[in-house]
Amino acid sequence: MAKKPRTAIIPTREDDYPEWYQQVIKAADMAENSDVRGCMVIKPWGYAIWENIQRNLDQMFKETGHRNAYFPIFIPKSFFEKEAEHVEGFAKECAVVTHSRLEDDGTGKLKVAGELTEPYIVRPTSETIIGASFARWVQSYRDLPLLINQWANVVRWELRTRLFLRTAEFLWQEGHTVHATKEEAEEETIKMLGVYAKFAREYLAIPVIEGEKTEGERFPGAVNTYTIEAMMQDKKALQAGTSHFLGQNFAQASDIKFQNKSGEVQYAWTTSWGVSTRLIGALIMAHSDDNGLVLPPKVAPEHIIFIPIYKNEQDREKVIDYIGNIITDIKPLRYHDEHIRYFVDDRDMTNSEKSWHWIKKGAPLRIEIGPRDIENNSVFIGRRDKDAKDKQSLSSKDFVAQLISILDEIQSNIFNRALEFRKENTKQIDDKDEFYKFFTPKDIEKPEIHGGFANSHWCGSNDCEDAIKSELKVTIRCMPNNAELEDGNCIYCNKPSKKRVIFAKSY
Ligand SMILES: [Zn+2]
Repeated sequence: MAKKPRTAIIPTREDDYPEWYQQVIKAADMAENSDVRGCMVIKPWGYAIWENIQRNLDQMFKETGHRNAYFPIFIPKSFFEKEAEHVEGFAKECAVVTHSRLEDDGTGKLKVAGELTEPYIVRPTSETIIGASFARWVQSYRDLPLLINQWANVVRWELRTRLFLRTAEFLWQEGHTVHATKEEAEEETIKMLGVYAKFAREYLAIPVIEGEKTEGERFPGAVNTYTIEAMMQDKKALQAGTSHFLGQNFAQASDIKFQNKSGEVQYAWTTSWGVSTRLIGALIMAHSDDNGLVLPPKVAPEHIIFIPIYKNEQDREKVIDYIGNIITDIKPLRYHDEHIRYFVDDRDMTNSEKSWHWIKKGAPLRIEIGPRDIENNSVFIGRRDKDAKDKQSLSSKDFVAQLISILDEIQSNIFNRALEFRKENTKQIDDKDEFYKFFTPKDIEKPEIHGGFANSHWCGSNDCEDAIKSELKVTIRCMPNNAELEDGNCIYCNKPSKKRVIFAKSY
C-alpha cells in the first residue's frame, strides 16, 4: 500500500473535516476562542483579511451610490417589538442589557445595580433602530432613495459556535435603503445581491449561485430574501450573503413615510443586505488544503513573503540588499489598484521552517533568495496554488515584469479549482431514491464527506420542504435566479413542478 504523504495539517480534510477546519485556523494564526464563551478573538492575520474584504466591498458600495453611517449598538425593547415576525425570528438569540451600574456589595465584589426602566437589546441586526432615524430623515420624495450602509458588530447569542462561521459576536456590514416605489426597492435588492456575487467571484475566488430563498428560509420580516450560496470542500453549502426586500413591513413598523409628487403621504419601501466575517470561514473552507490556508491574492494580507537565505553576516547583508532592490522595483506596481503587499521574514529560523510557516498561512508567493540567486541575478519562487516542492527560478527582472500576471494567474487558478469542484459535485437528480442515496453517508457512525448540490424539482409546498429537512437535514438553498422553466415532478411528492431548485446540506 502506498504511504500517505505527510501533510502540514493533521487531520486531513478527508479524515475529519470539522477538525481540519479548526486546525487550519490555528496553524495560520487567524483567530482563537476567547474567555467569553461564543466570542472570538480575531488575530492580525485574520483581521487583515477582513480589512481587505471591507475595503474592497466598501468601494463597491460607494460606487453604487451608498454612504456609510453609524447607529447605536443598543435597541430599545419597544422598537424591537414593532415588527412581529422580526421579534419572533430573533427573540431566542438576543443579549439584553437590563442594568446600568456596578456597586460594591460590601465584600469587595461587584453587584449589578441601576435597573433600567426599559431594557436594551444588543443589536442582532439594526432594521428597527435605523428605521427610527430614517423616519426622521425621510419626509419628501426628494429625500429618496436613501442609500445607507453601516460597518458594525452584532450579537446573536449562540452557544454552539465555530470560529468565523457561527459566533455570538461577529463583524459585518448592513445596508439599509429606502425607496419611493416597490420596483425601485426590488431593483436595489437584486443589485446588491449582484454586488455580493461579483465580490465573491472576483475577490474571494468563490463561485456562487444567486437565488431566492423559500418562505421558510426568509429573513424574519422580509417579503423576499435573496442569497448567494457557495459550495465548501465537504460539499455542504454556505450562505455567503443575503439581500432582503422588506416591502413596507419595516416602513410601517418604524413609520417611514414621505410626501409624493402629488402631495400625498405614503409609506416607503425598504431593503436591507449584509455580509459578515463568515466570508472568512467560506474562504477557508472553499480553498484551503491539507497543508493549510490558501488565499486568493486579492484578499491576502501579504502577496509576497521574501525569505532571505544566508550562513553568515556578510552574506546576510548582500541578500538583504538584493531583496531591497527588488522591493524598490515592485513598489511602483499596482495590483488591481492596490499596492503590492510584502513582508521580509528575517527571523532566526531555518529556511524550511519559514517556508512551511507561510505555506500554512496561505501566502500566495514565497520568494527565497540566497547568495547563489544573487550570482545568477535570479529569484526562487514558491506558489501557494502549486505543490510546496514545485518551485521555479526566474531572473529578478522577469519576476518584476511578470509579478502582476503571476498574481492574476494564482487568483484565477484558485477560482477555477473551486468552480470545477462545484461542477463535479452538482447533480441533476429526478429520482427520489437516488436523491436519498445522494444525501446519505455510507458510514452512518462516522459520516464521510458526501452529498453535494442536488438540482431537483420542487412543487413549492412547505410540507415537502419540511419533510426533506427533517428526514435528511437537507434544505433548499435557493431557487436560482437563472433557473429555466421546465416541466418536471417534485422530488418528494411527485406533483408537477416548473422549476429546479438547489438542495444541499449546509452550514
Ligand atoms: Zn412536493
